[in-house]
Amino acid sequence: MKLLVTVKRVEDPESRIRVRPDGQGIVTDGVNYKMNPFDEIAVEEAIRLKERHGGEVVVVSLGGPAAAAELRAALAMGADRAVLARHAGALDPSGAAALLERLVAQERPDLVLLGKQAVDDDQNQTGQLLAGRLGWPQATFASKKEGLESPAEQAREPGLALSADGARLRVAREIDGGLETLELELPAVVTVDLRLNRPRFASLPGIMKAKKKELREVEAGALGADLSPRVVVRRLLEPPARAGGVKVADVSELFQRLRGEAKVV
Ligand code: AMP
Repeated sequence: MKLLVTVKRVEDPESRIRVRPDGQGIVTDGVNYKMNPFDEIAVEEAIRLKERHGGEVVVVSLGGPAAAAELRAALAMGADRAVLARHAGALDPSGAAALLERLVAQERPDLVLLGKQAVDDDQNQTGQLLAGRLGWPQATFASKKEGLESPAEQAREPGLALSADGARLRVAREIDGGLETLELELPAVVTVDLRLNRPRFASLPGIMKAKKKELREVEAGALGADLSPRVVVRRLLEPPARAGGVKVADVSELFQRLRGEAKVV
């Protein structure tokens, strides 16, 4: 089974994000970067599928040369090789999906796994747009019932379950109020949600091995995809500063203020 997994380099959500005075971006000084957390879950799931069924895990990133660090991190977790489609400047989900379509045509995977969204701009569109472009079946928000983290339980109930003939994939996906199960014909596109698995930490031997694994770089422009943006960010604004809270003496004062000042009851 050949698995293609997308890995985006994003600002660490734990960093303090400040908007530049000109509103044209964020202040990058002092900001740390990491693999998009949902993509870590996608890499973990791909490695687990490979461990059960054999095959190859190829990780891809679209962006500047610095994204090689996140690809190396995925290789250290256990991915086999990496492709970096180098692109300077902004890339919206439409451009990302167009580029990924070209990489899919080159790599011919059985399954493309993506995070459900990138936590930098929270678009939640790339997987859906890619499936649309390819005309492949898709399942978004792949998940798993909680409490299945022990190896025995994992083996009994894998997050993504391949049929015996390897032609179909069963995916439990999050919907309002619960889970639903879909069965997809392969090749397919799956985007992963938070509860699907807990990504492993890279081991020291894994980190050493990753240094020798193939990381191929291609110029995004040479792939012939239409990268013209459909979404243009005009201006970023800081959220309004929150006013301080008020301490009330008792419940009756709380009600008085809610009724008289806030006018919510
Ligand atoms: P988005 O639609 O931007 O929220 O992104 C959804 C998913 O698409 C992410 O979790 C990534 O797996 C993938 N993706 C989007 N942009 C990129 C990128 N520049 N490089 C690699 N993967 C990406």
